[in-house]
Amino acid sequence: MEVRLLACTKLDLNYPLVPGLTELDSVVAHAISMCYRTTPSKNAILKCLKNGHTSVFEHISFTFDIEGISRVCLAQLTRHRIASYTVESQRFVDYTKKLVGVVVPPSISSPKCSGNGFDVTFHIFNDVTKEAFRAYEELVSNGVKPEDARFILPQATTTNLVMTINARSLFNFFNQRLDKRAQWEIRELAQRMLRIVKELAPITFSQYRETGGDRKGADN
Ligand SMILES: Cc1cc2nc3c(=O)[nH]c(=O)nc-3n(C[C@H](O)[C@H](O)[C@H](O)COP(=O)(O)OP(=O)(O)OC[C@H]3O[C@@H](n4cnc5c(N)ncnc54)[C@H](O)[C@@H]3O)c2cc1C
Repeated sequence: MEVRLLACTKLDLNYPLVPGLTELDSVVAHAISMCYRTTPSKNAILKCLKNGHTSVFEHISFTFDIEGISRVCLAQLTRHRIASYTVESQRFVDYTKKLVGVVVPPSISSPKCSGNGFDVTFHIFNDVTKEAFRAYEELVSNGVKPEDARFILPQATTTNLVMTINARSLFNFFNQRLDKRAQWEIRELAQRMLRIVKELAPITFSQYRETGGDRKGADN
């Protein structure tokens, strides 16, 4: 999978960067200063996180360009309703003409499954996915539209999308998807997203690590 930042909130030139804060953390700090008529500061952000005053984090948002996740991961991702999505169309993209891949779960591709076990599991996966794509091509070459031929494709088929989400909704996403109980693929996606946003707004996302989040101060 590949995750890149396509866009994010900008601080207008008329507003100063808050000393010691990045541009995005400064936007949050300026929003908080509106509430209390205080000087924007890092401490004010930390206080809001601690008190659960999380609506102030809705003022910064991120647009991600996400490529090469499975349709399984897409289904899990789009359950997060407080976000906007634009997904590659399987109705109109003809996979006989465009390159498409499959995501292989580590339990199937992992070297841990060595010897015969590895051969068997990987070959089952490989044979079935290959056959599905061969059948897709045959259906399309027989005049079936991609929108109907796709019904035969595996859930492992990769997809691409653009997703926009604000920091407060990301808290909820990270709480659920950085957690060990989340499936490995969406967890990896959450970790990659966290890496990007933490660099842009380190104080806002200070309670999160790639191994999970400290839920204190971040709502669900
Ligand atoms: C480990 C794990 C296992 C899961 N297993 C399943 C499963 O087996 N089956 C399944 O269907 N789903 C499953 N899910 C998906 C889960 O139930 C949520 O749909 C998904 O994680 C999105 O969470 P959310 O609703 O909090 O996010 P969002 O949709 O982004 O909503 C954010 C927050 O807004 C509020 N909100 C949004 N919409 C409403 C509303 N209509 N009414 C009231 N409040 C609202 C809630 O506070 C919510 O937390 C699983 C999730 C995880 C992390």
